[in-house]
Amino acid sequence: MLASIAGGWGGGYGGAASGAAIGTMAFPGLGTFIGAIVGGVVGGISGSIGATKLTKVVCDKLEYNVKKRKCKGCKKTFKARLYKGEKDEWLCQRCRR
Ligand SMILES: [Zn+2]
Repeated sequence: MLASIAGGWGGGYGGAASGAAIGTMAFPGLGTFIGAIVGGVVGGISGSIGATKLTKVVCDKLEYNVKKRKCKGCKKTFKARLYKGEKDEWLCQRCRR
């Protein structure tokens, strides 16, 4: 979640900067202003989508936050997805419902 927020902000700033540069070339003065807003919005959206996807891909590949656990309910082994700051999970998905 933090990565997606950071990515959103980073994309927003990057987009705003490149938008302003393009706007300045097209219409000096007013173009800088409009370019920065349009670039910031577009960059922010694409940046946060990209960061979210990247975070998911990296986590899935490394299995960084996936641990094998024995369910306290049905005694079956399951993969618990543990995210930072979350408590340990001791019930499989079926038993949690
Ligand atoms: Zn279970």
